[in-house]
Amino acid sequence: MTRRPTVRGGAAPAGACVWIGVGILLSASVFAQRSSAPSPPVLARMWDAEHVSSPVSPLVDHAEVKSRVQAIASAGADVLRVREVGRSLEGREVWDVTFGTGPFVVLMWSQMHGDEPTATSALFDLYEYIRRHEAEPAVRQLLSALTVHTVPMLNPDGAERFQRRNVQGIDVNRDALLLQTPEGRLLKELRDSLEPAIGFNLHNQSWRTTVGKPPKGAAISLLSVAQDEARSMTEGRLLTRRLGAVVRDALEPFALHRIGRYDDSFEVRAFGDNLTLWGTPVLLIETGPWPEAEPDPMLIRLNYTALIHALHALADGTVHQADPDRYDSLPENETGGFYTVIRNVTIVSGTGIPPFTGDVGLVANRRVRVTDDRRAVVILHTVEDIGDLRTAGGLFEVDGTGKVLAPLQEGAEVGSELSLPEGAVDAPIGIGAPAELMLLSPLPGGRYRVERIFRGAT
Ligand SMILES: [Zn+2]
Repeated sequence: MTRRPTVRGGAAPAGACVWIGVGILLSASVFAQRSSAPSPPVLARMWDAEHVSSPVSPLVDHAEVKSRVQAIASAGADVLRVREVGRSLEGREVWDVTFGTGPFVVLMWSQMHGDEPTATSALFDLYEYIRRHEAEPAVRQLLSALTVHTVPMLNPDGAERFQRRNVQGIDVNRDALLLQTPEGRLLKELRDSLEPAIGFNLHNQSWRTTVGKPPKGAAISLLSVAQDEARSMTEGRLLTRRLGAVVRDALEPFALHRIGRYDDSFEVRAFGDNLTLWGTPVLLIETGPWPEAEPDPMLIRLNYTALIHALHALADGTVHQADPDRYDSLPENETGGFYTVIRNVTIVSGTGIPPFTGDVGLVANRRVRVTDDRRAVVILHTVEDIGDLRTAGGLFEVDGTGKVLAPLQEGAEVGSELSLPEGAVDAPIGIGAPAELMLLSPLPGGRYRVERIFRGAT
């Protein structure tokens, strides 16, 4: 087992070869000679070089969490400590993975909503960061200043089904007062026994969440959680606003105009609000969409960078220099964003009505389908809106000028040529319909060439 040696004086010692693939930036400057923490861009590059998480977050099930946690436990490294803290209603283990021995106690939990998986993967990568770099001065300082408790996948039964709620059908994040869910009781017991000085509540938000004007898909949304109807500005809320500012400044280089803030209305039943009231101020971090066909790696990378940078800021005290206005001035989240908008296209709807020009907005929902014990991610596209959609943004924008949008014909492929039937078809374009569409370029003689195909499920 080799641990990366600290590079000093710019001379790479023998054994530094593990860094060659990472590049000069890391080998020469990360942690070198100083105890300051790596900057967010360096953290992002470290994630590129060192992450251990799987490439598709929704496919991470409880079995994977279990094997990773057991591997940490059996490695016997003192720096990461594993403890089973309870079971879900169906008996799946829930763990606390802890590092650090400092007086400032932090609690992070992921996936209390079973279909919100990004931060679970980011926690695996956070453990790897701690494991690899525990000897570095900045990490040593973090470990001596903080005790960080993390719960990867609080709602494993929901995760198994890729559903928000637990198997009772209860939204665990609305169970802070009645405590009818074993998962909610677990979180409450952890809070009461650990009395953390701060909590990180890690979620995913709808891919329709947007920020700014023109609206862009909100990759990360933050909330310094209120503890009462008056939204009182306590010391705890000042800390989570400062921490929100730290996270914003860390992530803006990677996600400019894609970071938003939630309205801080008090939700009397929610864990974040009640933990804050009980003495553990909570920063909510919600992960949204990213404009790539494979969004998970970038989203995990954003979470990793945010979490590690925030922990270092708490450990070295720089959080107290952060300007809370940098949090307050984040634009508020809105909803109504589309996955794909096809603009200014001639719509031949297949209903028999005359063609007309407009925009078509599609939404996408990711689901996990389990067949023969294999999990696969499917994206369900639905036609959400038709008409003048200039006020709405799409993660993906398609210019339909001069083109025709029509219901997908059987056998159509990109590049194939076809004619459109007159009159109605079985599955016309309509609101709420699965997006089985084809984008066509007109050819002479009433024929068309298929340019793109949009499917309800891919
Ligand atoms: Zn959630």
